[in-house]
Amino acid sequence: MSDDENQYAQYNDSNRAFLQAIMARGALTLKDARPILAAIFTAHEGTETAENDVTEADLLSYVAAANDAISSFDLEIRSMLSQVDRTRIWALVNTTSDPMTQLATTHSADEISYLKRLLDAMFEVRNTPRREVMAITEMDAVRLHKNPSESQVNNTQGGGATQGSAGKGLTMTDAERTIKGFVEEGWFEKSPNSFYTLSPRALMELKHYLINTYNGTGDDEDDDGERVERIKNCYACKELITVGRRCPTRECAVRVHDMCTENLFRALRERKCPTCKVDWVGENYVGERAVTTTEAWLKGRRRSNSGPRPGGGQQRNTQQAVEEEETDEEGEEEWEGR
Ligand SMILES: [Zn+2]
Ligand SMILES: [Zn+2]
Repeated sequence: MSDDENQYAQYNDSNRAFLQAIMARGALTLKDARPILAAIFTAHEGTETAENDVTEADLLSYVAAANDAISSFDLEIRSMLSQVDRTRIWALVNTTSDPMTQLATTHSADEISYLKRLLDAMFEVRNTPRREVMAITEMDAVRLHKNPSESQVNNTQGGGATQGSAGKGLTMTDAERTIKGFVEEGWFEKSPNSFYTLSPRALMELKHYLINTYNGTGDDEDDDGERVERIKNCYACKELITVGRRCPTRECAVRVHDMCTENLFRALRERKCPTCKVDWVGENYVGERAVTTTEAWLKGRRRSNSGPRPGGGQQRNTQQAVEEEETDEEGEEEWEGR
């Protein structure tokens, strides 16, 4: 735009309209922002602006102006790249407040403790050295609707967020409704295989909470006395990684986003793990593929495809197969071969 400088220098109705748009949506990409900014420019300048005339520089200048206006409210528009396709996503995040306190303004205490149980399930229970899923299926998520009894809570490993939480929990119907709400509010994303993961916006907002809760401090150590690092950063881009690939060596901490892989190995000039030097096969996954590429999952899918109930039956069968495997401690050997 020709009058970038003016827009930047003077906060006006077009800036307010942009801020309202991002507040209403929570997060947006350049593609999402183009029609919004085109409409704002058209209205503000009185001449038609086409979507394709809106540049990333326009968006950045509106983001910068909005950030100047909202910083005193402990809000900031931050951006990160999508872990899946490297699209940049801008989201409105709270810079100081505890995200759980912030959620408490729009959710009941039982819903918040349900969210914490879901996060524990994603980042502790389904995020082991053997398998880093960091996602939860719809069925498993609904099953966590009840608050576990105190004794069960004490039996859980590590310093999970649900320890000591009160209340009896939610009904299954309320749990389903609550998860749907988390998707609509932009906290969760649901994959075609019905796994829930944290959205980029949630990762931006919850980053410190997740690291403080799930990456051990002094008293949360593994057998060798090492600090537990359940949530890791991509070796290449240094951003959080919940979807990507892992080094085949189980003890090795190297994780790489799919989209970061090619650049990394081009730079390294060899397809070996940069730390432990093992051949990088690329078939060891972080995220739901840690489940959906397993024999158990594929077997369940084949079973269900030939079964009489192709719709509801499929999820149940695949789910059962994976659970059989999860409770099967002897399966360890099988996994090591992968
Ligand atoms: Zn990366
Ligand atoms: Zn390695």
